[in-house]
Amino acid sequence: MHETGVVVVGGGVTGVGVARDLARRGVDVTLLERGELAAGASGSMHGLLHSGARYAVEDAQSARSCITENRVLREIAADCIEDTGGLFVSLPSDPDDYLDRLDAACADVGIETERLTGAEAREREPGLAPATEAALAVPDGAIDPMALVAATAADAEAHGAVIHQQTPVADLVVEDTSVVGVEVGEKTIRADHVVNAAGAWADRVAALAGVDIEMRASRGAMSVTTGRHADTVVNRCRPKSSGDIVVPSDGHSILGTTDVTVENPDSFATEEWETELLFEELTPVLPALADAELSHTYWGVRPLYEPQATGDSVGFSRDYSVLDHAERDGVAGLTSAVGGKLTTHRAMAESVSDAVCDRLGVDAESDTADAPLPDAAAAMKKYDLDSLVTRTRA
Ligand SMILES: Cc1cc2nc3c(=O)[nH]c(=O)nc-3n(C[C@H](O)[C@H](O)[C@H](O)COP(=O)(O)OP(=O)(O)OC[C@H]3O[C@@H](n4cnc5c(N)ncnc54)[C@H](O)[C@@H]3O)c2cc1C
Repeated sequence: MHETGVVVVGGGVTGVGVARDLARRGVDVTLLERGELAAGASGSMHGLLHSGARYAVEDAQSARSCITENRVLREIAADCIEDTGGLFVSLPSDPDDYLDRLDAACADVGIETERLTGAEAREREPGLAPATEAALAVPDGAIDPMALVAATAADAEAHGAVIHQQTPVADLVVEDTSVVGVEVGEKTIRADHVVNAAGAWADRVAALAGVDIEMRASRGAMSVTTGRHADTVVNRCRPKSSGDIVVPSDGHSILGTTDVTVENPDSFATEEWETELLFEELTPVLPALADAELSHTYWGVRPLYEPQATGDSVGFSRDYSVLDHAERDGVAGLTSAVGGKLTTHRAMAESVSDAVCDRLGVDAESDTADAPLPDAAAAMKKYDLDSLVTRTRA
């Protein structure tokens, strides 16, 4: 039997973010990941460091947290980020007033923008279609998610956290109405508190304590070209929809994405039309994609928290929720972190850690917004994440 202060279930960006935050506050924390770090959505996402502009019109709260965390990550995780900038590119087929609405919404939430004519936009990004009428420049960027996860985990370990990969949590130990630990293989790890950071699997982990979390898993396809067809993040200038963004990633362009509900995040069908749709929707804005060579398409599964649903998940809030199951369900010792984005993971981890520290009576503030992460390349080697990069990107 092993004992720890807090067990974190899940080694995606949320789990390592929570482990880092708690460890830096002096809490004894053990993180358990069933596969390798970033094996879930965190290792198979699009790589956009959101400026928040994609949410500004529909979801001001998400947009605000994106721009705040965009600025934080540029300070603390600079070696995981390429400062590409982003453009919302207006074509004749796009809604007439969308660029004005987007610009106004960005101003409302404090996202800095620059209006460009079609000619100015094409000077900045020569691959744009000659039909480009206008564009809005925003502070989007490209982020390497594996590097971010590895560096965050390394910082957690440097502050005393213990991280185990290839260690699935098979059960939660419940005594009376409290979660008091986890079962791992033949072993029990007792803990004062368990954090459920299992992403699209969070409902399954919570169910081990008899708690119901209404989640919806939604798959998204991303197609990788062998060459790099734009140096800027290129967004279609229209309400958020499938196939509306191209993100640069080293020598490649990544086209995304789709949004299809899946029953089982471990095993789901993928379909040819998803790749076709990405090229169809994005070639009008970057004509070179018509002749681009496809390297491969990969899929990730979004952990969407169902109570925020307003219909099709393209319109869901991407903001996060921290569920204190003592308050919500009468089950003490368990907190779940659901929803969110890679860009806002640090803020989510801080909220989770605040809630856990309240429960544990730990009186320490988060300092994760001001503390730079350690060297990302060294951290990638430490956790042997290079094989994952090959699967998703090359
Ligand atoms: C298609 C797509 C594109 C996206 N694009 C972007 C983007 O461009 N920018 C952005 O900011 N965000 C993006 N996101 C969102 C972002 O990727 C996710 O919000 C974020 O990665 C979620 O991290 P997580 O740690 O909560 O979940 P995950 O990364 O899924 O981590 C959960 C982990 O829990 C582990 N686990 C599950 N069950 C157990 C168990 N029983 N025991 C131990 N471990 C367990 C899993 O193996 C997994 O590693 C995208 C998401 C998708 C799906």
